[in-house]
Amino acid sequence: MQAPDIPEMRSTAQPVNITHKLVTLLVPVYNEQRAIKPFLEAIQGITKGNIPDIDWEILFVNDGSKDGTEFAIRSFMRDNTTISLINLSRNFGKEAALCAGMEHARGDAIIPIDVDLQDEPDVIIEMIEKWRAGAEIVNARRGDRSQDTWFKRTTAQGFYKVFNALADHPMPSDVGDFRLLDRQVVDVLRSMGERARLNKALFSWVGFQTAEVVYNRKERSAGHTTMGYWKLWNMALDGIFSSTTKPLRIWTYVGTGLAMAAFFYGLYYLISVLIYGTDVPGYASTLLLILAFGGMQLIAIGIVGEYVGRILTEVRDRPLYIVRSRFIGDDIAADGVTV
Ligand code: UDP
Ligand code: MG
Repeated sequence: MQAPDIPEMRSTAQPVNITHKLVTLLVPVYNEQRAIKPFLEAIQGITKGNIPDIDWEILFVNDGSKDGTEFAIRSFMRDNTTISLINLSRNFGKEAALCAGMEHARGDAIIPIDVDLQDEPDVIIEMIEKWRAGAEIVNARRGDRSQDTWFKRTTAQGFYKVFNALADHPMPSDVGDFRLLDRQVVDVLRSMGERARLNKALFSWVGFQTAEVVYNRKERSAGHTTMGYWKLWNMALDGIFSSTTKPLRIWTYVGTGLAMAAFFYGLYYLISVLIYGTDVPGYASTLLLILAFGGMQLIAIGIVGEYVGRILTEVRDRPLYIVRSRFIGDDIAADGVTV
């Protein structure tokens, strides 16, 4: 019997290079008009074909900038087709901007990177090597934080200590959002719709094969930080309260301990009255106890409130961010897109 005639496929086509990959640099920007140009210049060395078999997408997420950031980005888009842009309808914060970017990025891997060049672009080469060697997440750890103020270093250290002591899953210290995430990891992260979130805690929580590269954090290229201490403090609270319920449980133990102490004190008091009769106890100790217990109860209520507030945020189920317009390759939607 004669074998069926199978047409020879792709006989004239070029061989398909299955190792060719697209990598998205995900860049959240908020009032950064002066930082766009230095950033694009600095990453040119990497995106202009220095790494074989990698195509690049530079995805800016304009987080409601009030200055000329959007204009600056769009002026570069004319000559550089690798640049994409999403404009959010207002400032939603870096965490939400990162989520918007992860939702729209097309890359096989995504690297969130700050526009101010504090995250060293050359590290990306090492990240890609480790990714190709099989790592699904490549963390970039800050070896040297001397560019940060003493206060920032100490508070950051304190945060990692407290977080790792409380959280159900630890987070490596000195690793920010700057890291490589494989598409598989990004898809998992996209499916996690929680609102109160600290992305870097989730990046560690999801697991996967993780490698690490070390770099020295640089000074800001232009402009000023918009991450004031109040914002960082709120991010820290979000990180802790969304990663663990231990702060709630602590009060069960504190309460039990205090109730037992009160019981034994009562017993002691009863016995001493029976033996020595009554005397008039001092005001100071009474006042002290009232203040101490009142304070502790308020803290406990406050902590319960932190969780109740976050439950409300989750239940309300508002979108994490709103896209005003987007310019991603051929996909251009310029008017009032809500996602
Ligand atoms: N950013 C943002 N939305 C904000 C605040 C910051 O998208 O509400 C961006 C900012 O443009 C920068 C990155 O997040 O690309 C890091 O911000 P910044 O340098 O101010 O923080 P720091 O490095 O001081 O922690
Ligand atoms: Mg910065």
